[in-house]
Amino acid sequence: MKSDTIAAIATALSDAGIGIIRISGPEAIAVANRVVVNKKKEHTLKNWQTHTIHYGFVEENGAILDEVMVSVMKAPRSYTTEDTVEINCHGGVLLTKRVLEAVLHAGARMAEPGEFTKRAFLSGRIDLSEAEAVMDLIQAKNQFSMQASIKQLRGSVAEKVKSLRAALLYEIAFIESALDDPEHISTEGYPKKLGKITRELLGEIGKLIASAEDGLLCKEGIRTVIVGKPNAGKSSLLNLLVGEERAIVTDIAGTTRDVLEESIRLKGISLNIIDTAGIRSTDDVVEKIGVERAMQYAKEADLILYVVDSSRPLDENDRQIIEMIRDQKVIVLLNKSDLEAAVSETDLQEAFGGREVSMIRTSAKKNAGIEEFEQLLEQMFFHGEIRSEDEVVITSMRHKEALCEAYDSLKMVQKSLEDDMPEDFYSIDLMSAYASLGRIIGEEVGDDLVNEIFSKFCMGK
Ligand code: GDP
Ligand code: ZN
Repeated sequence: MKSDTIAAIATALSDAGIGIIRISGPEAIAVANRVVVNKKKEHTLKNWQTHTIHYGFVEENGAILDEVMVSVMKAPRSYTTEDTVEINCHGGVLLTKRVLEAVLHAGARMAEPGEFTKRAFLSGRIDLSEAEAVMDLIQAKNQFSMQASIKQLRGSVAEKVKSLRAALLYEIAFIESALDDPEHISTEGYPKKLGKITRELLGEIGKLIASAEDGLLCKEGIRTVIVGKPNAGKSSLLNLLVGEERAIVTDIAGTTRDVLEESIRLKGISLNIIDTAGIRSTDDVVEKIGVERAMQYAKEADLILYVVDSSRPLDENDRQIIEMIRDQKVIVLLNKSDLEAAVSETDLQEAFGGREVSMIRTSAKKNAGIEEFEQLLEQMFFHGEIRSEDEVVITSMRHKEALCEAYDSLKMVQKSLEDDMPEDFYSIDLMSAYASLGRIIGEEVGDDLVNEIFSKFCMGK
């Protein structure tokens, strides 16, 4: 299928110093040639060598729009593998858009989001996981997820998945061959060997799934909910973290009636923080709705910030809150540390039934304890897999699903082995694990399987 010629602004739309219009497709050079002229107002772009940069102007209907630098990359040596022209203009939102318009008038079609990358994938220039990494990179919300994307882009996910698949393929090929040629290939002792291999593969896939959970957190932002009884200082603390007076702070218990969501970044970690209505039993209908929603949010949160007014003893409200967040990842903020303490760490530890909980003393009023809180947060999330240099962090939901499917299939293999089922039983599950993993890099079971079987075991000789 022949593709058409597409164009888009390749840089972020801002008042940055430079804006790049990218044109790709069979007509890219002809289209660019129509709008770009040299100093003598001649259209010479069609004669340029590949991988060269030229000084010139973008012109439409005889009027000069901008002074530009233009680079030409001819197929197949470009990102999309098609003829590609990039026009570097002076930037500024209006100007960049005007140049794009001129290019569209000259015969290009406006590119869909991600279409350049899609073309790179369709032409086999990059695999699916690399294509997704490019998308993630463009949308990376914070430093960490940017690093994960860069790594994925370098192919670390693809590498890992390919090695897992190679291992699976070997076993599938062996079983198929043994079934076809039982006289020459013995399966004596094989189930035991396969059991060991399956265990190892399950371990590795399990690790990838676990890293997917951390990876996803970082990409989407950690869903954080602030809970605590009215007047504990939730809104005041949130304001401190956000750095501006966004939530309403008052002396009247129950002011924050509905929920308020803020997206903030602390130490490079994105948090989506929800300030809830002070949780307590109530008869006020409006407030009641707020309370119920707060409970709902708290249940779905990745992290709970439980704010305690440490100048007052724990009461029934606190016990209800603790009951609700008992099984979650919690950081307790013992707020109002500037006042005389009526609650100790030990009291809280006991209230949590002896469970290990992280606690920080803060004072929203005196701006104390915030740094310690941020450090703790950093420790909690930038540990283990997330941090290590060579672990592969999976950041896409689609990858995670495929990994879980592969995991389940291998579990089935284990089960069949335990039950002493015949070979073709687990061969099917090995095959579906292979196919699931293949979806991550955009490959299904295909010719490679057949080729492998023949090349490794020389069947049908
Ligand atoms: P919320 O209902 O939990 O959101 O509590 P607010 O943030 O609205 O604060 C309730 C009251 O406590 C306000 O008068 C705040 O000024 C006060 N407050 C908040 N944090 C502190 C603190 O650390 N020390 C003291 N002394 N007062 C605080
Ligand atoms: Zn509040």
